[in-house]
Amino acid sequence: MTSSSLTTFLQRNLEELKNNGLFNQIHVLQGGNGPLIHINGRELINLSSNNYLGLAGDERLIQAAEAALRKYGVGAGAVRTINGTMDVHEELEVKLARFKRTEAAIAYQSGFNCNMAAISAVMEAGDAILSDELNHASIIDGCRLTKAKVIRFKHSDMEDLEKQAKAARDSGQYNKIMVITDGVFSMDGDIAKLPEIVEIAERYDLITYVDDAHGSGVLGKGAGTVKHFGLSDRVDFQIGTLSKAIGVVGGYVAGKRDLIEWLKVRSRPFLFSTATPPAIAAACIAALDILSNSAELQEKLWSNAAYFRKGLEQLGFETGHTETPITPCIIGDEVTTQQFSKELFEAGVYAKSIVFPTVPKGTGRVRNMPTAAHTTEMLNRALTVYESVKKRLGL
Ligand SMILES: *Cc1c(COP(=O)(O)O)cnc(C)c1O
Repeated sequence: MTSSSLTTFLQRNLEELKNNGLFNQIHVLQGGNGPLIHINGRELINLSSNNYLGLAGDERLIQAAEAALRKYGVGAGAVRTINGTMDVHEELEVKLARFKRTEAAIAYQSGFNCNMAAISAVMEAGDAILSDELNHASIIDGCRLTKAKVIRFKHSDMEDLEKQAKAARDSGQYNKIMVITDGVFSMDGDIAKLPEIVEIAERYDLITYVDDAHGSGVLGKGAGTVKHFGLSDRVDFQIGTLSKAIGVVGGYVAGKRDLIEWLKVRSRPFLFSTATPPAIAAACIAALDILSNSAELQEKLWSNAAYFRKGLEQLGFETGHTETPITPCIIGDEVTTQQFSKELFEAGVYAKSIVFPTVPKGTGRVRNMPTAAHTTEMLNRALTVYESVKKRLGL
């Protein structure tokens, strides 16, 4: 018997979502996630993945995973502290630290998990966290797991951050104060103002925490946003994900040795959730090796993104203030934006609409993620589709 209060709750809320057109129908891919995907037997040009460098289907990663699968089996068998730590997990952490130019690193099962782990391992009652209002959901949830006071500051508004930092410090109410920001904001593709953030942090003795999920593998010759600004020694927590540009799955913190040692004894997803499968760690190592040896994929990513953005602009579209390969195509009102994305889908282009409340009202956009794996021919085909949908909708 299902509880009647649960049944009522689910029916009422699901119906409301469906009536408002907010219920998300999830598309099923037949086959892997690459520049081309297959849905319902149709081929589409994929402009919606975070597989920035095309590594999710890279033969070198597949071979590394296959070899590790044979050597270690499928599962890690335990949490890291019991006996789930294998030499591949250790090697991955050594390579991550080298990649990020830090003393040490700790790997988690996902980027989301990493934020659940790292924030609450150091922030406690009597502390405060200054958090950019557009920070990722996993940062928001990670903050909620602490007893620290969370203070939001206006998106990338350095005056507001400084004001709030000063007020928090002057109040004398808080011991530790942390500032947390995404490195790259995924909806607009803008980069956090890290040089200013670090300066403010040094002025008010703030712990710095940068979640660079969308910057790692993309900016700073691959090493990320912190390296891009030359701040590797001045940021305490560098968070990254292995699920986006690295093409596999996982998350990590890179930082000073003491910090990483502390996270290994205090962060709960590390202590209470099974280690990632060894084949996954091996594939991540292969990806880091590729990125350490060549900038070819990053260069392809950036030139594809510039090409696609210019193409959209030549068709008369507005692409916002992106500074990264994330390429929004601003359509405007919510209904038209959703219609636009649907028409793209019908014509063979997979690019998701993003509307209020994720972005402000009236700034609905179709978000494009060109990758290193797209060919010019694919991008041209996508632009032709954009042009025809624009005409059909009379924009
Ligand atoms: C995607 C993302 C995450 C989650 O990473 P996963 O590895 O997919 O769990 C965390 N933080 C930010 C800023 C992200 O964009």
